[in-house]
Amino acid sequence: MAGGVLSGDMSSSPPFPSARREAALAALEDFIPRAGWNYAEQRNHDNGPSDRTNVSMLSPWIRLRQLTEWETVAAARREHDANSAGKFIDEVCWRTYWKGWLQLRPSIWTDYRRRVARLQMDEGMRGGVQAAMTGKTGIDCFDAWAQELVETGYLHNHARMWTASIWIHTLKLPWELGADWFLRHLLDGDPASNTLSWRWVAGLHTAGKTYLATRANIRRHTNDRFEVNAELATAPVAMPDFELPPIQPLKPGADWGEADEVAVLLTEDDLSAADWISSRTNVSTGAGFFPTAAYTAAGIADPVVAFRRAAMMDRTEAVWDDLGALRAWVESLPLKRLIMAEPPVGLTAELMPEIRQVCGDAGVDLRVVRHDWDHHFWPHATHGFFRFKKAIPAALSQLVGNQG
Ligand SMILES: Cc1cc2nc3c(=O)[nH]c(=O)nc-3n(C[C@H](O)[C@H](O)[C@H](O)COP(=O)(O)OP(=O)(O)OC[C@H]3O[C@@H](n4cnc5c(N)ncnc54)[C@H](O)[C@@H]3O)c2cc1C
Repeated sequence: MAGGVLSGDMSSSPPFPSARREAALAALEDFIPRAGWNYAEQRNHDNGPSDRTNVSMLSPWIRLRQLTEWETVAAARREHDANSAGKFIDEVCWRTYWKGWLQLRPSIWTDYRRRVARLQMDEGMRGGVQAAMTGKTGIDCFDAWAQELVETGYLHNHARMWTASIWIHTLKLPWELGADWFLRHLLDGDPASNTLSWRWVAGLHTAGKTYLATRANIRRHTNDRFEVNAELATAPVAMPDFELPPIQPLKPGADWGEADEVAVLLTEDDLSAADWISSRTNVSTGAGFFPTAAYTAAGIADPVVAFRRAAMMDRTEAVWDDLGALRAWVESLPLKRLIMAEPPVGLTAELMPEIRQVCGDAGVDLRVVRHDWDHHFWPHATHGFFRFKKAIPAALSQLVGNQG
């Protein structure tokens, strides 16, 4: 059994926060007084690693639903009116928007993963990519963010935009390798938010729109911490013509079935699942599946793996690290009904065929259910955020406050 002991847990050693739910709740409580106008007006400033009070830094927990979007938004609304909390709520919903957008176009993720594998074999660009990833480009701000990313697992949103822009448009490196570098080191590394934000900076999200970092903008929003000692690109790199794949209809979530008692399987995409599943059915046992080999194959950095595993350990008694251990557990279940939250496009979702096979072999009825939050929002992610945003008020009135 892989569960039980947090051996080599780096997740609570500074600069990494504790992965635990109680740490997430404490961080939320600490931040919420600042989630109103203060956040709306100040959030664009990257004051440096020693002062992050203008943003929440909640993303590593929200990524795993160690803290859910709905409870985060509910906490903001309890303390601020709709206007002043509006910006913060929008930002939390940006995450949901990207999730839904990718869910409707899953081939963007598979194409991106294929391109990363191909580009990693390209020796011609290895030197430039290596220099960028190790912060040795000679561009002062970029090198500082490269170091901060690897050492802390976090970058301010604006720094992410500037870093991606310099990577793509000034250093002229492939966006896919930059996205992969972020995904491997960010504690909040997320297939949807990360891949699609990089595509947006590259000019692949909205036709005709790219993001170009400028010296003046960087200096202004970093309180002149950097000289910005290089000429940054003034024109975007031309991208190949692209056409977005057609929208793929969402699979309907499974119905919950009739069984009185069920087992719950947690994955890293929703550690809150046991809570909301148990609000509708009787959960008698549960475990987590943490596919260590898939993480290793994807090159995910040790602190990220440690953080996520520790977060999962905090929510369930046993964590299975491979399909063999999962199979043994599934076979031992006295009840033949297993429920799990639908993993969105990403590493875990790629393993769904194997998980289904394990359950099928053991004669266990697997139900893959979708939380109401995702069920409500994802179908709205067909176009831009502006249109998507119109679905927020209904979510606030119907879903927020309802933790189930
Ligand atoms: C190139 C690039 C890559 C990114 N990669 C990721 C990633 O892998 N994972 C990730 O969670 N976010 C990613 N983001 C979005 C954003 O930068 C982070 O969510 C945010 O900086 C997290 O810090 P915070 O918790 O202090 O944010 P806050 O400003 O306090 O925002 C509150 C919450 O809202 C959500 N959020 C805020 N801004 C965004 C946004 N633009 N897109 C999506 N969600 C947002 C996050 O859950 C965040 O915790 C990326 C942005 C860019 C430009």
